This record gives sequence, structure tokens and C-alpha cells, in this order.
Amino acid sequence: MAEEPCQCSDCQRFYREHDRLIREFPTFKQQQELNWASIQSFRTLCSKVTDDLQRQLSERESTEDNILDEKHMSEAEINEALGELENVNAYLYSIEALMERIFDTKVSNNIELKFKEIAKELAPDPLNMDRLILNRLFHQSSDFPDKKKFN
Ligand SMILES: [Zn+2]
Repeated sequence: MAEEPCQCSDCQRFYREHDRLIREFPTFKQQQELNWASIQSFRTLCSKVTDDLQRQLSERESTEDNILDEKHMSEAEINEALGELENVNAYLYSIEALMERIFDTKVSNNIELKFKEIAKELAPDPLNMDRLILNRLFHQSSDFPDKKKFN
């Protein structure tokens, strides 16, 4: 039975992005590098923001009278964000460890050609089944904000 893919703007954006990543990075090696860079950049940004928030918190503690800060964030807001970001950083660290394993894998030139061939078939197809399954996962996580809390 054929299922109609969701056409909301989030899903459409996901379809376009998914296809673009296959079209522009059609080999096993390119996908390895892309995903490694993507996890690293996410981790770098998260930990820099965490450092900065911690600095802001400790500066407040040292100047108790001055509760106004540059962006008018409350202490509760900063503490909540720090808790969430600490979790995210821990998950990213775990993903990175798994990515290292994936990064160790190498495939032959013939297999790379197969990747390119399949990528060409996949990317232009707007109703690809693998993508629909992926997108369902994506959609679930964005539909239910409660699932974002892991602890
Ligand atoms: Zn949707």
C-alpha cells in the first residue's frame, strides 16, 4: 500500500536537504567525511556556547549587585540551557566514538562506483522509501518536544 509522504514545510525542507546531501556527497568516503565534519562542528559550537554561559554565570556570582546582563537572560534560563547542553554534549561524544568506527571502514573503488550509481537513482526520486522512513523518525522527534528530555 502506498503512503502519501507528509508535505508540511518541515518535511519538504527535509526531503530537499536529504536529496542534496546524497547528490553532493555520493560516495562512501564523502559521506564519512561529511558526517564526521557535521558532528564535530555541532560539538564545537555546543561546547563554546556552554563555556560562554558558564563564564556568564560565574561573572554574575562575582558581581552580585549587577543582575543585568548583555542579553537579559535569567539565571534560571542559563542553568536550564547548561543542563540540556551538557546532555547534548555527552550524546555527541558517544556519536563521535561510533563515527570513529565508521570512519575506519574503507571500501574498494568498485563499491564506490556502486554508491555513485545508487546515489543518482535515489536523489531525484521524491517518493523514495528509505527517505520516507528516515523522515518519519525526523518528524516524530520534532512533533513531540517531550522526547527531547532524556533524563
Ligand atoms: Zn511533515
